Amino acid sequence: MPMLQMVDLHGQYLKIKDEIDSGIRSVIDSCAFINGPQVKDFATHLSEYMGGCHVITCANGTDALQIALMALGLKPGDEVIVPAFTYVASAEVIGLLQLTPVMVDVDYDTFNISIEAMKNALTTKTKAIIPVHLFGQSCNMEPILEFASEHGLYVIEDNAQAIGAEYTFSDGHRAKTGTMGTIGCTSFFPSKNLGCYGDGGALFTNDDTLAERIRMIANHGQKVKYHHSVIGCNSRLDTIQAAVLDVKLKHLDEYCAARYTAAQYYTHAIRQIDLREQLFITPVEAPYSTHVYHQYTMKIRDGRRDELKSFLAERGVPSMIYYPLPLQDQEAFKDITYYKGSLSVSKQCACSVLSLPMHTELTSDIQDSVINALKSFLNTLQ
Ligand SMILES: *Cc1c(COP(=O)(O)O)cnc(C)c1O
Repeated sequence: MPMLQMVDLHGQYLKIKDEIDSGIRSVIDSCAFINGPQVKDFATHLSEYMGGCHVITCANGTDALQIALMALGLKPGDEVIVPAFTYVASAEVIGLLQLTPVMVDVDYDTFNISIEAMKNALTTKTKAIIPVHLFGQSCNMEPILEFASEHGLYVIEDNAQAIGAEYTFSDGHRAKTGTMGTIGCTSFFPSKNLGCYGDGGALFTNDDTLAERIRMIANHGQKVKYHHSVIGCNSRLDTIQAAVLDVKLKHLDEYCAARYTAAQYYTHAIRQIDLREQLFITPVEAPYSTHVYHQYTMKIRDGRRDELKSFLAERGVPSMIYYPLPLQDQEAFKDITYYKGSLSVSKQCACSVLSLPMHTELTSDIQDSVINALKSFLNTLQ
């Protein structure tokens, strides 16, 4: 049986080893570990890839979100709308800056922020919305952007899981996720679709003034060295990571395509084996977005998710629960959050989701062993 793992960074590395090794070696040879020329080169290339927006690199995706909120000058007590079903970082930074996270429900099919719930959460204190493009698919940005512009709200896209995805507006024009809001944020954590060999992140914006401000905040609030005009932080992408990312960026579209192909293979096979039981709900692709499948996330009916997860584990098939607790059930948020409306879909998702192995090196052999294990589980139900 082929080796099963959630992600296969080593297999991916072996295919680009020469380029990566020489990229890393050139950084070490120059010893320009901080702000070496590779950082600027990568930012330029990423900007071209994203369609020409400003790209400001930073230390990780969480910092990117924090810097975005700082750059918009939000004040304690300002409300920021965020989906309850997401990775903690999307909301953690809101609390860290003493802003108020207003958690809203997600859409059952796409796992992304519910437009209706977002609209219902508006108060006089609302200042920003953080749509999270979860699992590799864009939120429905057009109604979000319209609502934001009607009410003077900032939009910060959490694009950590969807870099490379594209949204199609109703007039047919397309835009990369992360470039549609006031600011877009992403993470280069190793397992992300564009991942480095350590930590990294970036911010995107089309606003020149904001880009300048973001750059300044990420660099101790200084524009001129040792002259600090605002309180900032120290958040840099290091040169070795930039060298790795510059190599991997060239492969990003091919990586997204490999993930997409693998996802289609899963969906087709899973529907075939599950015709009778209808236990597995395969991912739903929204008509307005491409899907870059950061995760292949199913929902398991009838409360059988945990049982299935153990069954797979016993057969050497890894799976993960992203995410087992919606934010409203996290202790850290219990005193700082303001809720408006039901969060029952987020809860339902947390109780039923299961993500299967998904990476760029999947083969039909590997996927067949996952599918066979799912089939064995279905057989135990008869
Ligand atoms: C990974 C991730 C982040 C944070 O990225 P780090 O680089 O780990 O700080 C933020 N939001 C989402 C949705 C993520 O998946």
